[in-house]
Amino acid sequence: MTISQIQFIRDRLRRLGARPAHEQRILRLWAQAKPQNSGRRPLESFMPTALRDDLPYLTNELNGLLRLQSAHPAEDGSVRWLLALQDGQTVETVGLPRDGLCVSSQVGCAVGCVFCMTGREGLIRQVGSAEIVAQVAFARLHRPVKKVVFMGMGEPAHNLDNVMEAIDVLGTVGNIAHKSLVFSTVGDPRVFERLPTGLVKPALAVSLHTTRADLRAQLLPRAPKMSPEELVEAAEIYARQTGYPIQYQWTLLEGVNDSEEELEGIVRLLKGKYALMNMIPYNAIDDLPFKRPSWERAAEIARSLHRRGILTKLRNSAGQDVEGGCGQLRARHFLGNKPLDMAVPKITTAPKMTMLKVTVSPKNSTP
Ligand code: SF4
Repeated sequence: MTISQIQFIRDRLRRLGARPAHEQRILRLWAQAKPQNSGRRPLESFMPTALRDDLPYLTNELNGLLRLQSAHPAEDGSVRWLLALQDGQTVETVGLPRDGLCVSSQVGCAVGCVFCMTGREGLIRQVGSAEIVAQVAFARLHRPVKKVVFMGMGEPAHNLDNVMEAIDVLGTVGNIAHKSLVFSTVGDPRVFERLPTGLVKPALAVSLHTTRADLRAQLLPRAPKMSPEELVEAAEIYARQTGYPIQYQWTLLEGVNDSEEELEGIVRLLKGKYALMNMIPYNAIDDLPFKRPSWERAAEIARSLHRRGILTKLRNSAGQDVEGGCGQLRARHFLGNKPLDMAVPKITTAPKMTMLKVTVSPKNSTP
């Protein structure tokens, strides 16, 4: 274990004589980006000397977990940060409008979604639990953070121990409400086993993208083999356990998953469920062959689902004007504008496009 793991920090504090209250205090001040000598009482009055003496070194090491590589503010009020980890690997963290923060849980990702830049490079390494909390601490130096979504680079289910440990800290001493921690997954049986057992139970977002199992296997080639029906069934149980609705994510790809057949599939799967559908028109990337549908078409899809009883929100991914798709900043940083030398699988689908009259054009943004 290293400083990138919260358990390593806890063990170190305990070896230096920290009692549970000291440990909680140090983690609280760190996660909330406050100085370790905060408060009216001098540290000498309640903290063992060895622990006190180590605090400046520990603070330095925690500050060294991440280094700002570049910052990219966007017109919608969001900001994308490219952050370097200690070994030089980089992750993207996004400050969202309305005090939200999107964190990365892995460098790269093994799921390999064909429309995602992060998925194209495969998994490079896990992000440690302390590196996840450090993204929140870093952001809090710049703006308030009241909501943390695990929707950045990586599949949190593939780094479950680190993500659960970070969620535990953020949902307790980190002062983030449990329902404001959003675990986002493509769906994995381990998620539905582990999340209900945690002290802090986050809200759950499920990336569905299609109701067709065959198309889903093409779009998310290395996602666990759970059918859309199985996914919705497992997610519904978790929603009823926690009292938080499931947020289904649907990246809208023109001509791929925007057909009338898909809309009927969504109604069949989600009608009567404790759920919310987030439709996010794809943020087109030069190197990938997918297209973003027009906002009017996306708005009509959202309205059509609403009319059929599915609570639907149409959202933009934050920071569209600054490489708003997950993994794009990192890819640009390493590759310049050169396309990645990787094959993009051909999607075989026969969408039925339905042209509908558009009357309004609402614009929302995540979260
Ligand atoms: S969309 Fe998410 S799960 Fe899919 S490859 Fe990208 S980071 Fe991984």
